[in-house]
Amino acid sequence: MPRKIRNGTVVYNLDPLIVKDHYEIDYRHSYAQDSPFFAGLAKGRLLGSFCSKCRYTYATPRSHCCQCGRATEWRELPRDGRIHTYTVCHYGGEAFLDETPFTLVLVEFKGADTLFLSRLVGAKAEEVRIGMEVTARFAPTPSFRVTDVWFEPKLKKSKT
Ligand SMILES: [Zn+2]
Repeated sequence: MPRKIRNGTVVYNLDPLIVKDHYEIDYRHSYAQDSPFFAGLAKGRLLGSFCSKCRYTYATPRSHCCQCGRATEWRELPRDGRIHTYTVCHYGGEAFLDETPFTLVLVEFKGADTLFLSRLVGAKAEEVRIGMEVTARFAPTPSFRVTDVWFEPKLKKSKT
């Protein structure tokens, strides 16, 4: 039987000791060089990083090229891509508990040399296929987190 101790602390068990504590903190941090990526999500744009020396495009924010060390330039990625691979997660962090099980996908884009990890929404696990065409969707109210973007199966244009 759970027992309340103080300040919202609840003891569920003594051996092993299992307690619930309330924990809250304000955390101020800077996105620094990755700021344009998160601002881009708020504008419905997915920004990758391009190295002009290596002609290499990262599908993720990367301030410097990992091959030559040169500062990269922002390059907008297409909204559409294909599933390179995927996994179905039956456990996730608190932000995803309501969606569990959920599907994580590595998306490949034309013109990008690396993949982008994101969630796939709108498809049952048994419907997901490698090579499936997907399109990026953006949170209408941005939280300036990487979860502001996710992918959904691309709708085929009807032939009528
Ligand atoms: Zn480079």
